[in-house]
Amino acid sequence: MRSSPGSARPETCSGWVDGSMALEDLYREVILDHYRNPRNRGHLSSPDATAQGVNPMCGDEINLELTLTDGSVSDVAIDGHGCSISQSSASMMTEAIKGKTRGQIEDLVARFRAMMAIDPDTDPGLDPDRPGAVLGDIEALQGVRQYPVRIKCASLAWNTLLEALSDQPD
Ligand code: ZN
Repeated sequence: MRSSPGSARPETCSGWVDGSMALEDLYREVILDHYRNPRNRGHLSSPDATAQGVNPMCGDEINLELTLTDGSVSDVAIDGHGCSISQSSASMMTEAIKGKTRGQIEDLVARFRAMMAIDPDTDPGLDPDRPGAVLGDIEALQGVRQYPVRIKCASLAWNTLLEALSDQPD
């Protein structure tokens, strides 16, 4: 059952999704799994880059630490708190960037932003017949597009990632 637009709950960050489609259920399961079992949680002993991200609309906070080896992300850790979308997106992000170069990460962020319709003119290059085939678990976040307030929750980790990398030399 979908609630009508007029009855949307004001605390849009406390829960997600009334949809009943199988794909939405799959997406929701993936998101909840990352929320309950966040990957790469904690701190690094000597990070090369750090950044903090805050989404005041929802109270989401993320602290990101990276180590870089030969231009690639060799390790990553996340600490923070907030809603399920912000924290699961952060967990997915940490898995997706390990071993990637800055250029590969920028491509990934561009695809993510396209998928979330933040950059609607860009094609994220997803395969609609094979959910998860291109971006893995990250594709589960595309259901959030229907909830514009929550796009900020989903984007927080990725914006924080770009900020951490912006201080690094090419
Ligand atoms: Zn949030």
